[in-house]
Amino acid sequence: MVADTKLYDALGVAPGASDAEIKKAYRKLALRHHPDKQSSTTDGAPADPTRFQEIQHAWEVLSDPDQRADYDEFGEKGSGGGGGGAGDEEMFHDFFAEMFGGVPPGFGGPPPPGGGGGGGRPRQKRKTQTPPSVVDLPLTLEELYTGCAKHLAVERTRTCATCAGSGAKPGRQAKPCVKCSGQGQTFAMKQMGPYIQRVPIRCTLCEGRGLKVRDQDACKKCKGARTVRDKKRVDFHVERGMHFGETIVISGEGDESPDSSAPGDLHITVRPLPHPTFVLVPPRSPSSPSDLSTTLSLTLSESLLGFSRLILVHLDGRGLRVAQPGPGQRGWRVLKGGDEVVVPGEGMWRAGRRGDLVLRVEVAMPDEQWAMGLAERGGVETLRGLLPPRRPDLAKVVVEEGKETDEVELEEKKEQPEEEEQWYHGTGRPYDEDEGAAPGCQQQ
Ligand SMILES: [Zn+2]
Ligand SMILES: [Zn+2]
Repeated sequence: MVADTKLYDALGVAPGASDAEIKKAYRKLALRHHPDKQSSTTDGAPADPTRFQEIQHAWEVLSDPDQRADYDEFGEKGSGGGGGGAGDEEMFHDFFAEMFGGVPPGFGGPPPPGGGGGGGRPRQKRKTQTPPSVVDLPLTLEELYTGCAKHLAVERTRTCATCAGSGAKPGRQAKPCVKCSGQGQTFAMKQMGPYIQRVPIRCTLCEGRGLKVRDQDACKKCKGARTVRDKKRVDFHVERGMHFGETIVISGEGDESPDSSAPGDLHITVRPLPHPTFVLVPPRSPSSPSDLSTTLSLTLSESLLGFSRLILVHLDGRGLRVAQPGPGQRGWRVLKGGDEVVVPGEGMWRAGRRGDLVLRVEVAMPDEQWAMGLAERGGVETLRGLLPPRRPDLAKVVVEEGKETDEVELEEKKEQPEEEEQWYHGTGRPYDEDEGAAPGCQQQ
C-alpha cells in the first residue's frame, strides 16, 4: 500500500506500475505538455506550464528506485518536500542534506556548502539507464517459420528491496567513505610529458559514490552491496521470420543499479539453429524475407519423364506435392542434377510476405545392383538402343598432333563449405582459419 498516489496520478498510471509503464507514460505526457509544443498547438488549449512541471517532477521521483520507494512509504515528504515552489533539483539536494548531511558526489549539483572540497572539482555525473543485458536465443526454423511464444529464466541484478538500495540496515546509513573522505575519487601521480601531475581516479572502496556502508551497518540481505541477484521468468513473442542477429528488446528487464535512473533493458538476440532439411538463405536486405533452400532428390525416371508426388513436408507440417509434366506435356523439362528450381512464396515469412523455396535437384542414378539385374534379364542392348548414343572417342577429335593423352582416374570431389552460409547460421567460424597465420603474428 502506498502512502500517496499524487505522483502516479500525474502520470496517469497505477501505483503498482512497472518502470517501463512509468517511462512510457512520462514520454507520452511530456511530449504532449511540453511548453514548446503547447504554444504551437492549434487546438486552442491554453498552455499550462505547471502541468508539464508536475509531470517532470513525478517522473524524477518515480524513475528513481530510491526516491520511488521513499515516496511509496512516506508520500511527498519522504521524497523531498511539499511540491511546487522550490525546483526539483533543489528539493532533492535538500533531502539528501537532511538524510546524510551532504549531497553525495555521485548525484551532481553544487558541492556541499562548507564541505572540505580539498580543491577537487565537484563531479557532474548524470544518472543514466543501466546498459542492456544481452542473451542469445537459439530457435529452430519451425519456431521462426510460425513465430512463437517463448520464455527465458533471466538472472539479473536488482536493487535490494530490503534496504531499498541503500545497502544499510534499517535506521543506519552509508557514511562518507574513509578512503576518499567522501569525495568519490582519490588521486594518483602521473607523468604527463615533463611534469608529474596529480590526476583524479575513481575511489575503489566506494566505487566513486563517496559513501560507504560500514560492515556493522550493512543490510542483512545484500551485505551492503545494495543489489541482489534475482531470477525472473520473462515471457515474450518471437515474430515469424526474424533474421539472424535481430534483437528483441524487453524494456527494464535487464540489470538494475541504484545508481542508474532506470533498470537496463534485456536484449534477446535471435540465432536460428541448423535444420536437417532446410537451409535459411541470408536475406537480400534487412526488410526482405529469407529464402529457404533444400534438396529435391529425383530418380532418373523422374528426372526424364516427370512425376507427381509429395516432395517434402514443410516447416509448418504441410505437405508439398509437385506434378511435374512428362515429355510432350505443357511445362515439361528434364530436371538435371545441379539444376535449381524455385517454388515461389514457400520460403520464410517476413512482415506478411514470404521468400521462395529453392530446390536443388539431385538425380539418383540407378546403382550396380539395378544394372546387374538388367543384364541378367538380357535388357542391356534394349536399354542401349533406348538411351542417347555414346560419344565418339574424344582424343581423335581435339588432341593436337604431338600432344600426349594421359590415363587419369575419377575420384569423389570433397565438398567445400559455403562460408557465408556457415557464418549466417552461426555454425562456422570462417575467420578463424587465419588465426595465428596472419603476417607478423608468429614470433618464432
Ligand atoms: Zn540491502
Ligand atoms: Zn571512496
